[in-house]
Amino acid sequence: DILANQIAAGEVIERPASVVKELVENAIDANSHQIDVLVEEAGVKSIRIIDDGDGIEADQVKKAFLRHATSKITSRNDLFRVHSLGFRGEALPSIASVADVVLETATADAPQGTRVHYKGGELLEEVGTGARKGTDITVSELFFNTPARLKYLKSQSTELAQIVDVINRLAMSYPDISFRLSHNGNEVMRTAGNGNLQQVIASIYGVQQARKMLAIQAEDNDFELNGYISLPELTRANRSYISILINGRYIKNFNLSRALVKGYGSKLMVGRFPIAVLQITMDPLLVDVNVHPQKHEVRLSKESQLMDLIERTVKERFANQNL
Ligand code: ADP
Ligand code: MG
Repeated sequence: DILANQIAAGEVIERPASVVKELVENAIDANSHQIDVLVEEAGVKSIRIIDDGDGIEADQVKKAFLRHATSKITSRNDLFRVHSLGFRGEALPSIASVADVVLETATADAPQGTRVHYKGGELLEEVGTGARKGTDITVSELFFNTPARLKYLKSQSTELAQIVDVINRLAMSYPDISFRLSHNGNEVMRTAGNGNLQQVIASIYGVQQARKMLAIQAEDNDFELNGYISLPELTRANRSYISILINGRYIKNFNLSRALVKGYGSKLMVGRFPIAVLQITMDPLLVDVNVHPQKHEVRLSKESQLMDLIERTVKERFANQNL
């Protein structure tokens, strides 16, 4: 019901950036190659996501707006081997309960698409539409019926910065996907979607910076590391310039970022941080992502083994480098 969805929204949807994150993750899970994110007034006015993914079958569209009706997990066991970014089935019903949502979607072989309009959790319209494959969703009037939430939002520049962060991190996690972000009609960032992580880093931190970063690559029996790290002399960054991505999911883990910093040893001045993008691939059974509704925190088996690998890899990379 609507109240339960609003309560869930309180946990999952804190601000415009949370809407962007959930919707872009859905587009990624739907195998999109191109994802366009268009926001107006830092997302407070509207957020539109257009993808070229699988789309939703006509008879599944209303189900997608029901709580816990995820198409991504079918058994209890799946919960321990999550491959998709979404799995709770909470985002669409939560967002629709606190905003105005228009979704248009079509699958590749369907003769026509479906358009639904929800506001405050109520279905206002369901009609057939054209059949462009993919999904086009617009969220406006966010928090129109939860004034406390609306009041809690920060300045537009802060809210926009959070959205940019979300897109940057997803772009680093998925170099094969082309992302475009625009704000009030102006392009903020764009990635090529050609699989080249260094080019994604260039889109985010600038070409000069990306060119100076060192590639790192390592593996042991359980983990594979891929990424780029800045040289110690370039460290005008803070901790948030370290991006750790586990199986395509941006995560916050103090121990892993500390291991990376430790790998620099005395090369890094105290209190300084590198720019780093670390993609970690591992068996999903070693990660528990079901710790927090926003899925940022994860529990890792063999965490100290991974910390050792990260520290050692960074250390060795600089050992072979004349600084
Ligand atoms: P979850 O992602 O946890 O499954 P959501 O509420 O985010 O839950 O989405 C509900 C369902 O709607 C998804 O499981 C998926 O089947 C469908 N869906 C949502 N967005 C898209 C999209 N952009 N493309 C295709 N299917 C989508
Ligand atoms: Mg989702």
